[in-house]
Amino acid sequence: MTELIPPYLSAPMAAVDRTHACENCGCSPAAQLTFRGHRGMVVVMQFLKNRGVYCRDCGLAVFRTMTSRTLVQGWWGYASFVITPFILLYNVFGRLKLDKMGDPVPPPEGMWRAPWSPGRPVYLRPTIVGLAVPLAVVGLIIAAVVSSALSSTGG
Ligand SMILES: [Zn+2]
Repeated sequence: MTELIPPYLSAPMAAVDRTHACENCGCSPAAQLTFRGHRGMVVVMQFLKNRGVYCRDCGLAVFRTMTSRTLVQGWWGYASFVITPFILLYNVFGRLKLDKMGDPVPPPEGMWRAPWSPGRPVYLRPTIVGLAVPLAVVGLIIAAVVSSALSSTGG
């Protein structure tokens, strides 16, 4: 009587793209992803990179860690101040890739472990206060330009 169940319903799951397996947990689907970080230290700076084949959850964990750190550590130098927004933008594009990936599914056989917990979104982490740094600097520049313009026309 099992013939009453059509095969497409008795199949365990929709086909999972197993072209790649996450290098951290072994789940699929996974994709080659690169997330960057930046650390400015006045005169020196550090470019950080995390490149690997990750499933959606592990990739999200890497994105959030790298982006949160960069938000706090990125701004502290003349060049770093300009570089950091590009690093953040680069990560946002990588983050968009994750949206297209399905839930991580363990491999049918072999070793695997639970994916990294993605944790809280970047905007819910205390490190989001790092965004205040460029806003404050840009605000000060605008204030300086406006006040000098006002004093030159008023004088
Ligand atoms: Zn994973």
